[in-house]
Amino acid sequence: MFGIFRGKKSRASPAPPAGPERLVVEGPDGLIVTELTFDRFSSLRISVRPGGVVRVRAPIGSDMAFVRGSVQARAEWIARHVARLAGMRPVRMLAYVQGEKHALLGREYVLDIRPPEAGCPRGVRLEGESIVVRLRDADPGRVRRALDAWYLDQSRAVFARVLRELWPRVAGYGAARVAGLKVRAMTSRWGTCSRAGVITLNRHLVRAPLVCVEYVAAHELCHLLYFGHGADFKALLTAVMPDWKRRRALLRRSLTL
Ligand SMILES: [Zn+2]
Repeated sequence: MFGIFRGKKSRASPAPPAGPERLVVEGPDGLIVTELTFDRFSSLRISVRPGGVVRVRAPIGSDMAFVRGSVQARAEWIARHVARLAGMRPVRMLAYVQGEKHALLGREYVLDIRPPEAGCPRGVRLEGESIVVRLRDADPGRVRRALDAWYLDQSRAVFARVLRELWPRVAGYGAARVAGLKVRAMTSRWGTCSRAGVITLNRHLVRAPLVCVEYVAAHELCHLLYFGHGADFKALLTAVMPDWKRRRALLRRSLTL
C-alpha cells in the first residue's frame, strides 16, 4: 500500500493546529469574548492575559454547557481582571520599533533607533527622555538584542546595589551573606532565593519603580532566614520593610510579565 503513494504529493492538507474557539458569555458591562481550547488537564482553567485576552482551557471531552456555565459563573471576576490588564503592556509583547515606550526604574523612555555616526558609538544609552539605540540595521530582532544586553547591564548594577543596601536590615536578625546574585529572564516570578543563599532576580524587574525592586530584594533577603512564606517570614519582611504591601501593589500595577 505504501508504494502507491510514494512520490506523490498528498492532497489532503494536514490537520490544522487546534486553534482556540470563541466562547462568548454575558459580562456585567457587555459581552465577554474568550479563547477556548481543550487540553488533557482534568480541570477547567480561566486566565486573563496582559492586554485583556481571556483564555479558557477545558478538559478534552468537556460538556459545552458545563464549560459555558463555568465561565459565566466567573464573568464578574473575568471582567474585573480584563479591566485591570487591558491597559497593561506586557514585557513580552514589545515590538522594538521606533517611538515605542520602554521603562527603566518606573520611568518611560521613548525608543529612538538611529544609525551610527562619527563620535557616537554604536550601542544603547539614555539621552534625556529617550533610549537611543545606534545600529546600522533597525531590524527589531537586532534592536531587541541590543536592548536586552543593555537592560541586563542596568539590572545587574541596580540589583547588586539594592541588595547591598538592604542586606544590613536582615543581617541584624542573623541572616547570612548573600551567596551570589543571578539575573535571569523569568516568565512567572520576580525573584527566588536558593537554600544556599543565591538570589536570582528577574531581569525585567529593572523596568519597575525602584521601590518595587527594593520590595522584591527585601522579600528574597528574608528567605535567607526563612525558606517558606509563613508567619515568621511575613513578620520579618514587615519588620525590615513595613510598607511592603504597598510596594507589591505598585509592582502589580506597574509591570506584567
Ligand atoms: Zn518568596
